[in-house]
Amino acid sequence: MPAKRTRQASSLPVQWEELTASDFPKAVKRAKGVCLLPMGVIEKHGPHLPLGTDVMDVREAAIRAARDEYAVVFPPYYFGQINCAKHQPGCISIRPESLNELLQQVCDEIARNGFDKILLANGHGGNTHWLNFFCQVQLAERKDYVVYLAREAMDKEIAKQLEAKRKTNWGGHACEFETSVVMATRPDLVKLARAGDEDGRPRGRLKGLKDTFTAMWWYADFPDHYAGDARPANAQLGELALEGWARGLARLLRAVKSDKVTSRLQDEFYARADKPLAKAAPKKRR
Ligand SMILES: [Zn+2]
Repeated sequence: MPAKRTRQASSLPVQWEELTASDFPKAVKRAKGVCLLPMGVIEKHGPHLPLGTDVMDVREAAIRAARDEYAVVFPPYYFGQINCAKHQPGCISIRPESLNELLQQVCDEIARNGFDKILLANGHGGNTHWLNFFCQVQLAERKDYVVYLAREAMDKEIAKQLEAKRKTNWGGHACEFETSVVMATRPDLVKLARAGDEDGRPRGRLKGLKDTFTAMWWYADFPDHYAGDARPANAQLGELALEGWARGLARLLRAVKSDKVTSRLQDEFYARADKPLAKAAPKKRR
């Protein structure tokens, strides 16, 4: 019966791990070949948030986005760049060469399962440089898929509302915002009473080197791996942030689905890179 069929189609889970093998091909088709890969890490989040905060947050936003604009959301991915929190309990830091290798293999496997577009959604600040680099090196070898990175994934209108509502004007890690998001999704895991136990203000210990970059930049400012003051955090702010993030990701999913240019240019580039000295056929002169 058609009504039943519609109901079944709309109940197709967005999470990869919740799909059955028999439903998987339908999901790939419905997603128009787009897999959303939320990325995080496992690291200390101040004195009050769970180690897996980044993955929990970005995955929640990704799942909401994919329910709005269907895509398959890859299972929790905890392996990111996190050397700067190795001095804190519970941190898992993978060697840089393995990070790249693992993510490439995961992308290859996603593509082998029928997807030709992979959208990376990052939930961890320490992944930023690496994920841009990862996208750049996709040109190193021919691929039959395209990797996109969601760079601006917050809805602009909601971003303005968030700015107006926030009580602290600085942060970035286990701060008012991040804590609010966990309060919206997993309040049982937030120990807000501990948020003032450590000082999340920047120490400014490398102030004289502001036009250079070293691996110590973060530790110099935030030795406790806490950047912000989470005390004013609240679930309403977190819910708004999640809504903005999900809306922004859904917009990017639509843009990626309708993109026909990148894969064509990528193929053209690989062909030319194989024979850089080959001249294009000369144009006829009149
Ligand atoms: Zn975080």
